[in-house]
Amino acid sequence: MKTFRQELWFNTKSRQEFINITPQVEELVKKSGVKEGLCLVNAMHITASVFINDDEGGLHQDFSAWLEKLAPYAKEKYQHNLSGEDNGDAHLKRTIMGREVVVAITGGKLDFGPWEQIFYGEFDGCRRKRALIKIIGE
Ligand code: ZN
Repeated sequence: MKTFRQELWFNTKSRQEFINITPQVEELVKKSGVKEGLCLVNAMHITASVFINDDEGGLHQDFSAWLEKLAPYAKEKYQHNLSGEDNGDAHLKRTIMGREVVVAITGGKLDFGPWEQIFYGEFDGCRRKRALIKIIGE
């Protein structure tokens, strides 16, 4: 069995951002040489997500508005922020949007359903953070 590991690094300009990382992940699947297997992509920070959905502007605005309703950014609102942090909302947003995705690799390609794309979701950005890509298979 082949195994392959690589990290993707991010430093977003805004606090919250969704980045389509599908092209990078496809490139790494190619580089891994795995034709049949599994590709795991996970955020390595507890205030960022990796999730799969459509790459559509309106939908991303809807996600942002929905998340802001559920867990608005507010310094005073969260017990977590009593520790001096200001990212209580980002921990909650990450939990809702998920930590990781696993995609099947078939014939050397990511085996997606229609419109599926992989996103890195940042909820406490403007600093260096990363996602892990682990690929296993034959
Ligand atoms: Zn925190």
